[in-house]
Amino acid sequence: MFRRILIANRGEIALRVIRACRHMGITSIAVYSTADQNCLHASLADESICIGPPQANLSYLNIPSIIAAAEIADAQAIHPGYGFLSENPKFATICKDCHIGFIGPSPETIALSGDKSVCRARMKAAGVPTVPGSEGLIQDAETAVKLAKDIGFPVLVKATAGGGGKGMRIAHNDVALQHAVNMASTEAAAAFGDGGVYLEKYIENARHVEVQILGDHQGRIVTLGERECSIQRRHQKLIEETPSVALTPSLRAKMMKAAYRAAKAINYTNAGTVEFLLAPDNQFYFIEFNARIQVEHPVTEEVTRKDLVCEQIRISAGEPLGYSAVKTEGHAIEARVYAEDPMQNFAPSPGLIKNCHLPGGPGIRVDTHLFTGYEVPRYYDSLLAKVIAWGQDRNQAIERLAGALDEFRIDGVKTTAALCATILRSGRFRRGDISMNTIDHFLPKVG
Ligand code: ADP
Repeated sequence: MFRRILIANRGEIALRVIRACRHMGITSIAVYSTADQNCLHASLADESICIGPPQANLSYLNIPSIIAAAEIADAQAIHPGYGFLSENPKFATICKDCHIGFIGPSPETIALSGDKSVCRARMKAAGVPTVPGSEGLIQDAETAVKLAKDIGFPVLVKATAGGGGKGMRIAHNDVALQHAVNMASTEAAAAFGDGGVYLEKYIENARHVEVQILGDHQGRIVTLGERECSIQRRHQKLIEETPSVALTPSLRAKMMKAAYRAAKAINYTNAGTVEFLLAPDNQFYFIEFNARIQVEHPVTEEVTRKDLVCEQIRISAGEPLGYSAVKTEGHAIEARVYAEDPMQNFAPSPGLIKNCHLPGGPGIRVDTHLFTGYEVPRYYDSLLAKVIAWGQDRNQAIERLAGALDEFRIDGVKTTAALCATILRSGRFRRGDISMNTIDHFLPKVG
């Protein structure tokens, strides 16, 4: 087992990994930018090293600084968390070349899952259902229009290197599609340095349902159930739960089988997520593979009682999983609390946390790096906290989570907490009548 692990991240996920290290008797080493010197990850880790100025490309994305920190600290492995370098195949390769364990899948797997159109083709070939769309990349707007007529409007133009909902455009007709191809391509080239785009049919009123998987280096792959993440803003998740009310036992079995096949097709190791869209007619389609720990992993932990971060570390150290199935109990829901103003189209709301009170009580877990006096930096993702409730059933989880969000006090910045509580208590959510458009019912009407 590793003795020393460096955590190449910040915020709540850095704390999550520090705790996993502590539970396993491993020394944790935090890295921080100068904007984060008073942050909890820098003080709670056993050791910490400054890696550069506030801008992420000069600190948390700066590969030479992070590798130098790992070498100085004599770290045997690096946990990348999510975001930043977690899905950067070059970083995973450099770790390998420097004989530092990368706690995640192989560089080849990361590269494949990061090229969404190639991954989609691989999945199709492996018999995993994919959304109807283009074979590979779209070469020009005319070809896109021809194809869209075959598959039927509306269609979605997606960036092959895309992530975080960027480089995605919906089009309802020929003219809009030509425009969408050019816009998505330009946006993707600027954001990801790769302007390649592909086409998918836009599945209306779909649900987002994903499957958590773990794969060890002995070739075993285990599925750990689904998470429904249909409550989203700007194609980004806000509320996640497990189990999904939309899955019958037979549909769940089919989806687990498809996720298993997807992971097997690319010899997946470590923790990963296979994302599907579930259409109103109960057909489901693969959309992408996430080769990292996900923000929403705690809901799976709450119902399976598995510590997914410890499992990631064990797998990377070469230990076999030691089980082929997991039992689940109860229902878990997570609400993401972002420093954003829902009434102003989720505009970032950075600033000083003048006062902060965290909720608690039976079945409540709060994963956060917040404290009174914390200054929410404008340089990074605005996630402040994840509040997770476990209940014996969905109703109990809803009541517990909504109550916890009411109790959560964060003075100084606008947050998504109250919006999440309103959605949770709504008739729609309680009935499980949700899709990726649900959020629109809770926001001020524009125009
Ligand atoms: P990213 O990697 O940027 O998060 P995804 O491919 O995971 O992109 O898509 C993000 C979200 O966009 C999905 O959760 C879903 O809400 C929506 N989406 C993606 N593809 C489709 C599609 N074909 N039809 C309808 N919605 C889609």
